[in-house]
Amino acid sequence: MDLQPVRTRFAPSPTGRMHLGSARSALYPFLLARRTGGTFILRIEDTDRKRFVPGAEEELIEGLRWLGIEYDEGPDIGGPYGPYRQSERREIYHEHAWKLVERGHAFPCFCSPERLEQVRQQQIANKQNPRYDGACRDLDPDEARRRVRAGEKYVIRFKMPKEGSITVTDLLRGPITTDNAALDDSVLLKSDGMPTYHLAAMVDDHLMGITHVIRGSEWLPSLPLHAHVLRGFGWEEPVFVHLSVFLKPSGKGKMSKREAAEALKDGYSIFITDMKELGYIPEGVLNWIVLMGWGVPEDDIMTLDEMIARFDINHLTPSPAAVNFAKLDHFNGAHIRRLPTEDLAARIKPYFLREGLAVDDDLLLRIVPLIRERLVTLDDCLPFAAWFFRETVTPKPEELVAKGLTAAQSAEVARRACVILEALPEITPALAEPPLRAYVEQSGLSAGQVFGILRVAVTGQTVSPPLFESMEIVGKEKVLARLRAAIETLEAMK
Ligand code: GLU
Repeated sequence: MDLQPVRTRFAPSPTGRMHLGSARSALYPFLLARRTGGTFILRIEDTDRKRFVPGAEEELIEGLRWLGIEYDEGPDIGGPYGPYRQSERREIYHEHAWKLVERGHAFPCFCSPERLEQVRQQQIANKQNPRYDGACRDLDPDEARRRVRAGEKYVIRFKMPKEGSITVTDLLRGPITTDNAALDDSVLLKSDGMPTYHLAAMVDDHLMGITHVIRGSEWLPSLPLHAHVLRGFGWEEPVFVHLSVFLKPSGKGKMSKREAAEALKDGYSIFITDMKELGYIPEGVLNWIVLMGWGVPEDDIMTLDEMIARFDINHLTPSPAAVNFAKLDHFNGAHIRRLPTEDLAARIKPYFLREGLAVDDDLLLRIVPLIRERLVTLDDCLPFAAWFFRETVTPKPEELVAKGLTAAQSAEVARRACVILEALPEITPALAEPPLRAYVEQSGLSAGQVFGILRVAVTGQTVSPPLFESMEIVGKEKVLARLRAAIETLEAMK
């Protein structure tokens, strides 16, 4: 890959929540910039005031920060090409729209919305594709300017050539040729003075020196218009990369709002801040997202630094990617297992605190190695290990009764275990396991029966980290007290 320093950008519209698509649209240009020692920019495209959602920009910034996708220039940190919020660049777009008029590639249009609607209805009735009918295309320029000065409402439209064709290249798809006759005189500047995406993004990408435009494939149909606009200004084109679409988990059809709601019912989410809440770690989320559109082996476990070192824009793929949450779990668990003990301890600690548990840090560090292998999400630490931080456990009486045994027989098992453990100087796996296993042998019971009773008595639950290691952490005194309590419970049962 060419390693010339690039300038790339993530240009989200603050119109909703940050989802995995937005995260991927930020991640690839970030990786390319870092890989080449270039610059990555955040630009907020907030010119559509009707779709503006308060708080969306903050959520995007929080999401990027959490994922570790750092930008070098942006609305909150500034930079040499600012402002980086399009609503603060109105003048620039206005000026450029008129520049395009002067160059003969755009024209002011005074058609009322009512007239345009009538034309549209007529075209639909005639089974034509609805499009601008060209009424203002050839107005005398001086006359048009006079009407504008007089305060008449207007928009500025691109003056699409009626003949010929245009060829634009998408890096992943190759050259794409479109007949100009199939293209519309699209609006570039709206009557409220705000630009459309078609104008604002082209102007900004040029003025901000963007070399690679990496964006969603929903913009592919607008690519010919965008090339016309750029050429109309006489500007060089950036490299265009349109990413693949996301498919539903079933692989049938595009990912939709409805599908996202379904995912939530199963404890999954496509929204970045939700993923954080659900106990996913940024490393896992990034690894999952980066492979949805990048042709490297599917189960490569990579940190952000490893992704940067390996990233090659030529290996992105236009093939659709199905959103597979089982893979998210897979990557998350894999990255959790890679975390150093102290790091993992620090990340799970808040979950215990949130439960109102007092967390002893030394105890936590001893617990982490016992549960690390079993965590898929960080909050899995609660079912496995919250009991360590409780003074007492309260086993369900019926769970103390081993499968195939009566309560009285189970009490007898607990009594024998108590005697064995009492005789030890302390409980460690090395000291406790051999005599308890010998007892299993000689009793004719199964290990599952004997250790099941012990597990429920000591931890209060049927699923726990490894029993002997857990008992060691709990300590001899408490283990014996819990066994005695269990014996009493069992004896009181019919
Ligand atoms: N604001 C556009 C969007 O959110 C940006 C597309 C682009 O990256 O140019 O879809």
